[in-house]
Amino acid sequence: MLDHVSTFTRSTVLEAQRNTLLEELWAKGIRNEAVLRAIAQVRREDFLPDALKARGYENVALPIGAGQTISQPYTVAFMTELLMPTNKEPSEEILSRYTILEIGTGSGYQAAILGAMGFRRIYTVERIPELLAEAQKRFTALGIPVMTRLSDGSLGWSEYAPFDAIIVTAGSPDVPETLALQLAVGGKMVVPVGSQTHQRLYRITRLHAGLDADAFSAEEFQTFRFVPLVGEQGWR
Ligand code: SAM
Repeated sequence: MLDHVSTFTRSTVLEAQRNTLLEELWAKGIRNEAVLRAIAQVRREDFLPDALKARGYENVALPIGAGQTISQPYTVAFMTELLMPTNKEPSEEILSRYTILEIGTGSGYQAAILGAMGFRRIYTVERIPELLAEAQKRFTALGIPVMTRLSDGSLGWSEYAPFDAIIVTAGSPDVPETLALQLAVGGKMVVPVGSQTHQRLYRITRLHAGLDADAFSAEEFQTFRFVPLVGEQGWR
């Protein structure tokens, strides 16, 4: 009986915290309906180690092991919103066609948000085997269709390029050129660029199929703090 009561209390508290988080995201300017719905739907606690599950709906980054973090929900929402082709629910046509590459699978939460939005072509790359193994288990348990790969994601995933969207969830010293070249024409990449402790978020859009700098436009957003992108086109 007591166990039953405490499970009930815990889930009620988590639900209240989730509503508070959604209000906070709205107050901070997140307006994309599909992004907010996915954040409401995906249980962030399922992507955290046991000791941190109770903190699932705090709007903070949290440790997930191997010196890495699950991003702050606001960061996930902001980056996802920047990549969306529309502020409304994406059409069936977009959901089945739009190809998204994530660099830095981590806990799998960001990919799960994309899956909950209904995208069916999600690719994610992680360089730390134990994190990828855990994330894969979560994708399978939750029935989220995500293609995973263990490798240096700063080099992208050329077999499945070009991508409509690339989301880099680790901080890079520069815009990784190999990744930019894996964008489809009209495709967008969000990438934090800066030092190993603070980065500014950029959205790079591919304007045409050329290979030089004028094939891309760059927009600059606010500062975030990400763990480093470690790899050939990141921090070596
Ligand atoms: N998106 C993750 C989530 O939802 O939990 C959070 C990502 S965490 C902030 C950054 C991740 O990028 C870490 O798991 C780290 O191991 C990974 N990473 C760093 N450099 C990488 C690289 N070159 N290739 C692939 N993954 C990389």
